[in-house]
Amino acid sequence: MLLTEATWMEVETYLETFRTIIMPIGSVEQHGPLGLMGTDAMCAEIIARRAGELGGFLVGPTLSIGMAQSHLAFPGTISLKPATLIALVQDVVSSLSHAGFQSIIFLNGHGGNIATISTAFSEIYAGRSLEKSPVALNLSLKSWFDLPGIRSLLKEMYPVGHGSHATPSEVAITQHMLPHTIKQAKLDPQIAAEGGFTDAHDFRRRYPDGRKGADSSQAKPEDGARLVEAAAKALAKEVAATG
Ligand SMILES: [Zn+2]
Repeated sequence: MLLTEATWMEVETYLETFRTIIMPIGSVEQHGPLGLMGTDAMCAEIIARRAGELGGFLVGPTLSIGMAQSHLAFPGTISLKPATLIALVQDVVSSLSHAGFQSIIFLNGHGGNIATISTAFSEIYAGRSLEKSPVALNLSLKSWFDLPGIRSLLKEMYPVGHGSHATPSEVAITQHMLPHTIKQAKLDPQIAAEGGFTDAHDFRRRYPDGRKGADSSQAKPEDGARLVEAAAKALAKEVAATG
């Protein structure tokens, strides 16, 4: 069930049996010549929603904008500062825990969100540690590409050129979701350089077309469908175990 498509009475009934909700979280940032700006939010959303169907869990609205400072030298990128994302996660958790949710799983689509969301969790737990007897709260952060079995599937699908940004796997998921958005472009070089970065200026200097280590042209919609199903199954299993 999707939270945004439920009535408050349905949410109240759900809470009589379950205390768990999945919150998809992504980013709006450049994904090279073949990837969409909304890739990370879309990947998180489709996997969370499919897991919700498989496991009967409530799925909240996608938090589409994340911490994407390193992509700001490419037009269209929208980034929250780390402090803003921390405040956002804190407010979302406060609202949900106030309603009675005790297990909140953030299903993440963007590697750049991980450190900030983890810090938000630390802030929330630090506040609770100073309270006398708070109600139990279990926060977890799961990036779809780190779910059990997914890294090995990615290796099998893309033995060379998967990379770490504008990857063929995330592009494939958006191609599966929105076939009318499939882009064509010549990639040069075919496999982009890989490495580190500091700020957005440095990122664009090192990775001029926005890809990092990836050959996004390997993306195929049918691989996206397979990845969504595998990640959703793995997520549903993990959520059932925590819930
Ligand atoms: Zn991405």
